[in-house]
Amino acid sequence: MRMSKMLMPTLKEVPSDAEITSHQLMLRAGMIRKMASGVYNQLPMGIRVFNKIQNIIREEMNAKGAQEILCSGLIPSELWKESGRWDVMGPEMFRLKDRNERSYCMGPTHEEVFTDIIRQEVTSYKQLPLNLYQIQVKYRDERRPRFGVMRTKTFTMKDAYSFDVDQEGLDKSYQDMFEAYTNIFARCELENSPVQADSGAMGGSASAEFMVKSEVGEDEIVFCTGCDYAANIEKATSVNHEPSTEEMKEMKEVHTPGVHTIKELVEFFKEDAGKFAKTLIYYADGKTVAVVVRGDRDVNETKVANAIGGAVEFELASESTIKEVTGAEVGFAGPIGIKTDYILIDQEVVDQRNVVIGANKTEYHIENANYGRDFEGTVGDFRNVAEGDKCTKCGSSLEVARGVEVGHIFKLGTKYSESMGATFLDNNGKSQPIVMGCYGIGVERTAAAVIEQHHDENGIIWPLAIAPYHVVVVPVNIKKDEHRENAEKIYEELKAMGVEVLLDDRDERAGVKFKDSELIGIPMRITVGKDIVDGKVEFKLRNSADKEVIGLDEIKSKIE
Ligand code: ATP
Ligand code: MG
Ligand code: MG
Ligand code: MG
Repeated sequence: MRMSKMLMPTLKEVPSDAEITSHQLMLRAGMIRKMASGVYNQLPMGIRVFNKIQNIIREEMNAKGAQEILCSGLIPSELWKESGRWDVMGPEMFRLKDRNERSYCMGPTHEEVFTDIIRQEVTSYKQLPLNLYQIQVKYRDERRPRFGVMRTKTFTMKDAYSFDVDQEGLDKSYQDMFEAYTNIFARCELENSPVQADSGAMGGSASAEFMVKSEVGEDEIVFCTGCDYAANIEKATSVNHEPSTEEMKEMKEVHTPGVHTIKELVEFFKEDAGKFAKTLIYYADGKTVAVVVRGDRDVNETKVANAIGGAVEFELASESTIKEVTGAEVGFAGPIGIKTDYILIDQEVVDQRNVVIGANKTEYHIENANYGRDFEGTVGDFRNVAEGDKCTKCGSSLEVARGVEVGHIFKLGTKYSESMGATFLDNNGKSQPIVMGCYGIGVERTAAAVIEQHHDENGIIWPLAIAPYHVVVVPVNIKKDEHRENAEKIYEELKAMGVEVLLDDRDERAGVKFKDSELIGIPMRITVGKDIVDGKVEFKLRNSADKEVIGLDEIKSKIE
């Protein structure tokens, strides 16, 4: 590609609204442009990278026997009602109606759709196992879109769904996907760790997140210094850890920095309330009550859900009664430690509306809700493990780090097949629910995470496998015939070899061209300058400071 013809709007300055390196560099390298908060368009230099990641994903999925399909992003509400998730999903789901008042959503994930396809086509165990995937745009009305394409309202996800006859089959499918993900991220040169994760709103048993350690990550992960134990902090356990007051204070800052307006809090609570139910409300002292409206898990306990719904309504109805906003706290409710945000409200109000359902102290409940009796969950699920705690596996110290979730694999089990009637006849002619798994990777977030790991002060340093182009040929002075003509010749030859090559034929100073090639991170650069009179060019790798003067006849061997 000739750079003079390309839409490649590189920026010298760091855009002021971009906080993290990958966001800054994607904007500066002309890969993406923002259209609205959390909504980006992809320009030529960007889409080439995203396409390469997609192709790596495709190859590794296909290698495991998964088959690509493409589903509609527009999904009728009926399917979601069947699975029971239409009411559970909350405001993160974009909902809309057609001209006939039929409801749809813009798919945030596709368990229902894939289950629907399979239930129509599969009747016998002979047709299983199957693993289907798609690479498609997802829509999520994220509360806080941020960090460029790391967290957006529309993004490309590879989502796969496996269908097996039994748990053993699922174990194998899950293992296959684990391996595929390991290969995908290795090919992208993205250092990552699979960590145990909570199954969350998807339901199901085992789950692993592929986490990239990074200061900009929005997840916290626990690593053991002595063994391979690694888990999302939501899932992590440690030996006999009780949170100290210090840790509680820390949590306070992590979760709700600053004091919020009532309106903000109401919005915040409204979102969490509809979506996730395992949330408790308790007194902070005799006079006030803490309404705990944050928990990020799906618990099938309507009592809890209703209470939260009630609490939110109540908040909406009587804003003026909220006395004091304290920000986040750590509450440990019953045997499960739950991260909580709470606000303090009037006792009077509590008396009027019976919304308090759980507490971490006796006599502090209004309506008692007990773990096991009133709601389900895994003990330890919400345990907040702290740095230095001891590993339950080996006793060594645990470390806590921030991480970016780039991929996530789940064993779903029969949650969707049972609710939606996806069954097969086993070899005894008996009807059984299909055993499912689901597996997601975010394409743009993966690219951003790669940049976080591969850059220097001059720009991106793309790993060869996902670089937008492999080589850039730079004629130092386009007005000099011998620079221009030789550069053209090298460019044509490399192209003929199948090398993905850029020719910087712009009428710019060499310095500008070098800066751009470093910024956009092309792995190899060939500069055609004064040495061309001796039949020589300069060869430079993006990831090293060394420059080498080589003969024209050596180019081929350098690049191969
Ligand atoms: P997060 O915890 O960051 O909100 P998630 O757990 O909701 O992500 P999944 O439903 O597991 O995400 O989706 C699979 C993958 O899709 C994630 O691992 C991530 O790579 C990507 N992804 C999810 N949400 C977004 C988003 N808003 N923007 C970009 N990529 C996303
Ligand atoms: Mg999410
Ligand atoms: Mg997550
Ligand atoms: Mg996830």
